[in-house]
Amino acid sequence: MDFSFTEEQRLMAETARKIAKDFPPDYWYEKEEKGEFGEEFWRAISDAGFLGILIPEEYGGVGLGVTELMLVIQELCENGCGMAGNWYICLTEVFGANPIVRYGTEEQKEKYLPGIAKGELEFCMALTEPNAGTNTFRTETFAKKEGNGYRINGTKMFISGADRAKGMLLIARTTKANEAPKKTHGITLFLVDLPNEAVKVSPIPKHGINYSKTCEVVIEDLWVPESAVLGEVDKGWYALLDVLDPERLVFTIASTAIGKLAIKYAVDYGNQRKVFADPISSYQALQHPIAEAYSSLVSAELLAYKAGWLFDHGGNYREIGAVANMAKAVAVENATKAVYWAMQTLGGYGYAKEYHVERWWREINLVRLAPVTQQMALNYIAQHVLGMPRSYR
Ligand SMILES: Cc1cc2nc3c(=O)[nH]c(=O)nc-3n(C[C@H](O)[C@H](O)[C@H](O)COP(=O)(O)OP(=O)(O)OC[C@H]3O[C@@H](n4cnc5c(N)ncnc54)[C@H](O)[C@@H]3O)c2cc1C
Repeated sequence: MDFSFTEEQRLMAETARKIAKDFPPDYWYEKEEKGEFGEEFWRAISDAGFLGILIPEEYGGVGLGVTELMLVIQELCENGCGMAGNWYICLTEVFGANPIVRYGTEEQKEKYLPGIAKGELEFCMALTEPNAGTNTFRTETFAKKEGNGYRINGTKMFISGADRAKGMLLIARTTKANEAPKKTHGITLFLVDLPNEAVKVSPIPKHGINYSKTCEVVIEDLWVPESAVLGEVDKGWYALLDVLDPERLVFTIASTAIGKLAIKYAVDYGNQRKVFADPISSYQALQHPIAEAYSSLVSAELLAYKAGWLFDHGGNYREIGAVANMAKAVAVENATKAVYWAMQTLGGYGYAKEYHVERWWREINLVRLAPVTQQMALNYIAQHVLGMPRSYR
């Protein structure tokens, strides 16, 4: 067992750390307040090659794995960017580049990958629906075969980045659920070019992460050619898992990093702040919960990297699913505690926007709900790791 990073990984981490220092919490405070996309940050991460980590060199990328992606995201988030260090990279690289590298035809790879690697082509993923939510098998968006293509209709909810994206990974049914021989059958992935007049995108005002818009997407009579199918028709379920697992992992590592960022901020503040004789950080009532959360975050981080390693080394989906869900559940629970105690340490200032912790609080609360809810992660562990009966139909 080797826990050390390679020289290449260390260099990437160092580059990410330097970029993060150029985009400190004050930058994200302003972007969040103005509801503005971080254009300068986007340019910096594309210039550093971070949007092409998963893309093979022949398409302009770096040709590395999810482990390196996680490492870069961890450094960006932990060194000041908070969730922003993950968000844009996840939308474009995990939802766009990653499935195209794995399942794309040569034509699809040439069409999308070089643009993604250069930071010229943003992506989004449209999975969630009003009536499906957590239960993807209830997806209603339907792609009907028509001539040498498909006619698609449906509504998607909470699609992040759809307002700017030029590419959308769309999850639709090509066989109705009640006609499918098994429940995993009938789901197909499509690559849709945006903007498109058959795709109506409406931002949904939201609690946090306002440097990116999250949208309702209404698809009405969208026609796409057969060449827009990514992977195999009706057999998209397992390809989708190859998107959702890395998504879970980058959000997990972002969560541990946000927790650590908030703790560092609280420790620096608490070491300075005196309201009685000694700095407030000397009180065990603050020290113990912070130390506990920190230790759990570091443990979750190790578990997350194990899942990343399994993903990069061809682990099977059950093995990856088990470790990724355990890491996600522990990371988010403890990142929530970490940010909570950071806010507590700052007292009233923790509630003031310019002190950043309240923004990280809003960011970490998202990860309780998405990309998978805490309850569904625990359901997976109970059922697939511990062998308990499935508690829902
Ligand atoms: C800011 C934001 C950005 C997002 N970005 C995207 C995106 O880019 N693309 C995309 O496709 N989606 C996106 N989502 C959607 C997100 O993945 C879903 O909101 C999430 O998966 C939960 O689905 P739901 O909101 O429909 O909740 P529901 O499925 O309705 O669940 C509601 C509650 O019921 C609980 N619950 C449901 N079933 C069970 C069960 N069997 N056992 C125990 N508890 C259960 C859940 O845990 C949850 O607490 C985003 C969401 C948000 C808020």
